[in-house]
Amino acid sequence: MTDSTTDPALSSFLDVDADHPFPIQNLPYGVFTPPNTTVPRVGVAIGDHVLDLALLNEEGAFDTLNLRNVRPFAQPSLNEFMALGAEAWAAVREQIQTLLRADTDELRDDASLRERALWPREDVALHLPVEVGDYTDFYSSKQHATNVGTMFRGAENALKDNWVHLPVGYHGRASSVILSGQDVRRPCGQTRPDDDAPPVFGPSKLLDFELETGFFVGDGNALGTSIPIDTADEHIFGMVLVNDWSARDIQGWEYDPLGPFLGKSFATTISPWVVPMAALEPFRTAGPTQEPEPLDYLQAEGDAAYDITLEVDLQTPSMAEPHTICRSNTKHLYWTMRQQLAHHTINGCNARPGDLMASGTISGPTEDSYGSMLELSWRGENPVALPGDETRSFLEDGDRVVLRGYAQGDGYRVGFGPAEGTVLPATCT
Ligand code: CA
Repeated sequence: MTDSTTDPALSSFLDVDADHPFPIQNLPYGVFTPPNTTVPRVGVAIGDHVLDLALLNEEGAFDTLNLRNVRPFAQPSLNEFMALGAEAWAAVREQIQTLLRADTDELRDDASLRERALWPREDVALHLPVEVGDYTDFYSSKQHATNVGTMFRGAENALKDNWVHLPVGYHGRASSVILSGQDVRRPCGQTRPDDDAPPVFGPSKLLDFELETGFFVGDGNALGTSIPIDTADEHIFGMVLVNDWSARDIQGWEYDPLGPFLGKSFATTISPWVVPMAALEPFRTAGPTQEPEPLDYLQAEGDAAYDITLEVDLQTPSMAEPHTICRSNTKHLYWTMRQQLAHHTINGCNARPGDLMASGTISGPTEDSYGSMLELSWRGENPVALPGDETRSFLEDGDRVVLRGYAQGDGYRVGFGPAEGTVLPATCT
């Protein structure tokens, strides 16, 4: 169901190149502070500018939607806006787009309003866009689950029996979800490098990235109720890129029998702009065939996978520029976001505005589409070759990892800002 807000013919009075991530068809939401104040607020990215929605609301731009008293944009996070629900999101998006269109004059011809509401991106500070209440990480790429299972259990037992029947996931740590650009300290912890010797304490030696996307829950559900799969899409506000940093050696020793813990909870990087699902509607596509057929509560009509091109760049301290080490796509995911949300709430668990649900590592069918160093180097057996005769099996101090993503439209791109971070040395004292 593609609405008029994704019409390829739309253009803004602001110049936006055809390969720019933030054309008028995208309009992703973020939280920023303009240079003339210290008060963060909600904005929208348009080309190389950021539009101040809090100021526009004060000026009456959303009065037809009765938002002046609600003040959902004069907030340090998107949570209040997300809680308003899908009808409000659609109405706000349409109004923002009307203001930015080349053929409307309300903002285009008002120099005073433009000066107060439109900021060059380079002049503003970006913040974590959402106050993340709960963070859940799924494991929804069949190729990734198969790769990891093959490495640790052999090809015959790669997938556990449950994997094709439900979207496997675990509860992650919300407090360490950080904004792109923030450095990541190599974690310290307990590992057991020698199975015949006692465990040791020290810096993780097997630090990894995980290429993922994530979605934010908008309005949630009451405790004791569930979100049916047929209406799950209405509860999904938008998507970001997610790097679910992982310490494989800490994880490998600690995870039995309750699962990931300190090997995962030290940092999770997200991209700064939340791309609304409305902007991604034209990029729905059929996902992999689900066989065996899922139980009824996980079945719905229509395409629910998304065609979003993903890349991972790695830059070591000796490299002049980043090098692409992985090319993947969200359409490789076996379980869909609506299946994840329906499954998450089927037991009566309440999802809340701002909850982050990540896909799990997105690995494609080819070796250059694997979404982690663990898979790209196959546990270190085949180190990844980099320019300048360098190789990497896992991440070393000073390495910079950049996740990128975009959906290619007809003459325009719906892009995600990068999700990047640099590894700092451990301080295990
Ligand atoms: Ca993960």
